[in-house]
Parts: sequence; structure tokens; C-alpha cells
Amino acid sequence: MSWTTYLLLPLLLPLLCFYLLPATPTTPAMSNKTITLLIAHPDDEAMFFSPTLLCLAPSNRIQVLCLSTGDAAGLGAVRRTELIASAMTLGVRDSADVVVIDDPRMPDSMGTPWAPEVVAEYLARYAGDADVVLTFDERGVSGHVNHVSLLHGAREFVRGKGVKLWTLTTVGVLRKYSSVLDVRATRAAGGLVFVSNWEGVRTAQRAMTDCHVSQMRWFRWGWIGLSRYMVVNDVREETVV
Ligand SMILES: [Zn+2]
Repeated sequence: MSWTTYLLLPLLLPLLCFYLLPATPTTPAMSNKTITLLIAHPDDEAMFFSPTLLCLAPSNRIQVLCLSTGDAAGLGAVRRTELIASAMTLGVRDSADVVVIDDPRMPDSMGTPWAPEVVAEYLARYAGDADVVLTFDERGVSGHVNHVSLLHGAREFVRGKGVKLWTLTTVGVLRKYSSVLDVRATRAAGGLVFVSNWEGVRTAQRAMTDCHVSQMRWFRWGWIGLSRYMVVNDVREETVV
């Protein structure tokens, strides 16, 4: 092979993987459920949960409950509008199913955990008819303390109820930036796996570039281009006693 072939191989391999990628069918076994996606900031739904939403939205009712406006830079009102547009792009049917909370007890902050009882209070108010609550796991994908707070509040909410709690698995940094190359390892690890094909990945990228315009700083391009969370999600059901 010529040196140009060797040079192009790292670029061609991911493209080949996308071409061969069997996406999770958009009508999986789960249907006709109400699923509440619990997030901390507008854009969490697009950056982390897109493959799950794109797979489940056609056959289930998806609600998005976002517990802050992401107002750290004073853009709260803009970000609320952006979240609604993104959620609709990812399959949420009714804008009324996107709720954004602005409560001083839950600031958008890297250093302020949110009290589980406050998170549970909002779930009780807005997710009372949910069959499933979906949120971050104990590592919160990015380690953001607000993400982790959601899990503790969700556990408190589902305890003693018939509501399932699903958490999005956090993977290490190498896998995090392995895009489509992480699909095989994810499927092998088990759990509930949602995979987007190339069209789904482009939809997720558009939810960021066309809807979350205020968040599209240079470093986001690395995430939407390389992150496996734009391609694949694996979700675990938590047993809460
Ligand atoms: Zn976040």
C-alpha cells in the first residue's frame, strides 16, 4: 500500500464502521410507555441521551424534565427555547412535554449538589404518570455534580413506587471519544443498548448545531464529532429498595 493509503486508513475506518452499523430498531420491545428523561441542563438531552431518545420516541411518550435553565452565563431564557427545539428534533412530540425548572435551590453550578428531596419533589410534580425515569448514573458521564444529584433524587422518587429507574452508563475517557468504534464493546457489555445509524447521528448533531446555538463553542465540535454518546447509549435498570 502507498503511504497515502496508510494515512487515510484512520479516517476511512470509522466511515466504514458507520456504513456497516446496524442501528437499534426504532420500534423496540418497549412501547406505549411514558418515559421521563431527567436532566440537569439544557443540552444534556442532545449531548448524552440522543441514541436512546431517537430509538424510544417513535413508540413511547417522552417527557423531558430539566432542573435548571443552565443560566451560568445569563442565557437561561435562550437555553429554555433551545432545549424545546432540540427535544422536538430528537422525537418529543409535544412541546408541553418539555419542562424547564428555575429554582434557586438548584443552581447551575459545578460545586453545588442539589438536595435529593428537592429533585424528588419536582419529579412528583411533573413525572407522576411516568413508567420509567431515565437519568445519569453515579458518575454523571462528565462527573458534573448536578448530573449526579439527579440520580439521588430519582432514587428517592421511585422508592416504593412501581416506576422503573434507568441510568445512563458512564464510560472511561478513551471509550468516551471512540465514536462508532465503541459500539461493539458496548453491545458486548450487555445492558439496554441503543445505537444510532449515520442518519440518527446527524440528527443528534443537528440538535446541537441548529438548536443549541448558544452552546456551540469550539470544544463542542470535538464532542459531537467524536463522542460515542452521539452514537450509542447503554442503560441499566437500577433496583431501588
Ligand atoms: Zn449537564
